Amino acid sequence: MNHSFALKAGRSQKRFTSLTINTSHDRFEIPIFIVRGKKDGPTLTIIGGEHGTEVTAPEIIRRFIEGINPEELSGGVIGIPVANPPAMRTKQHSFPYDKWVWWSELNDLNRAWPGQPDGTPAECITHALFNQVLLKSNAVISIHSTNYTHYVEADLSSRASRKLCLDFGRIALVRYTNAPGRTSFKAPLKYGIPSMLIEYAPLRHVNHNVIDDALIGLENLLVSMEMKCGKIRKIKDQFIVAYAKGLRIERVDAIDDGILVRGKPWGSHMRKGELIGHIYDLYKYRRIQEIKAPIEGILISTGPNPAHQSTFFMHTDSVCRGECVAEVMAFDRHIVNRNGDEWRDKLLATPS
Ligand SMILES: [Zn+2]
Repeated sequence: MNHSFALKAGRSQKRFTSLTINTSHDRFEIPIFIVRGKKDGPTLTIIGGEHGTEVTAPEIIRRFIEGINPEELSGGVIGIPVANPPAMRTKQHSFPYDKWVWWSELNDLNRAWPGQPDGTPAECITHALFNQVLLKSNAVISIHSTNYTHYVEADLSSRASRKLCLDFGRIALVRYTNAPGRTSFKAPLKYGIPSMLIEYAPLRHVNHNVIDDALIGLENLLVSMEMKCGKIRKIKDQFIVAYAKGLRIERVDAIDDGILVRGKPWGSHMRKGELIGHIYDLYKYRRIQEIKAPIEGILISTGPNPAHQSTFFMHTDSVCRGECVAEVMAFDRHIVNRNGDEWRDKLLATPS
């Protein structure tokens, strides 16, 4: 097996290339974008497309690389827009079968880091990318999609990861975890490389509403890492949730069959008792339920649940009696960034 690949570009240059990974029965081609700045400095790696139904990250990475002026950059940026082409090609979360059907992490590429040279297709891909790209980086950003509200996540105990995560600054919900794992944002930490996870809703579609905002966040990271001059532009609110302690999520169920009409966007800061939306029944179309926040927290989804299964099953805004219609997650800390940007309307997202 030949995995040799040189992560090189000339000074002040961009290079659009690909890495070929041979496994025992398959051969995969993974796109790699490289920008080398005018001056020396750290290397930032951004990885997307690890799951086949998460299609916003590739476009964020492409536009970010396109927008970098190498003359203003110190160091290098590496973009891996589509880390898992076989999962994309088969329109599934994972390859060779969809995780949400079998509830197995066996072939989940984002549970296969740092990989093995003679393992499953996912492990062969992660092994090559980990050794040839991620280990040569000074920070790793992993971008995914979710059918819950947008969030970022990083390891609480790593000061550098904490700084990255807060300086990205464009997503209100910030989750802290220090559990070990085989994901692309946890594996680099073992080697002292700071890293973070970014999750944008929804699955299955390119979310054009968030791309411009994501580009501001990635630009913030260049400033944070002193790879570029400029000011960090955060949004007004950041809510810290200590995932390590266990998440506190309270849900509201539908009292009868009906249509869910949302009144608040995902990510909203809800006070206890505040109105989230309504349900109108299917048989007389009368308002039968006011959905109210059971606790103070962040509105992380408005039904149906489990949200991730909409990869595979038809999901609509009609709900059945007893079905979950809203989930609110308690937070531990609210950071208010003075002079921060407004964010709520721009980041409105519900599954489509
Ligand atoms: Zn993912």
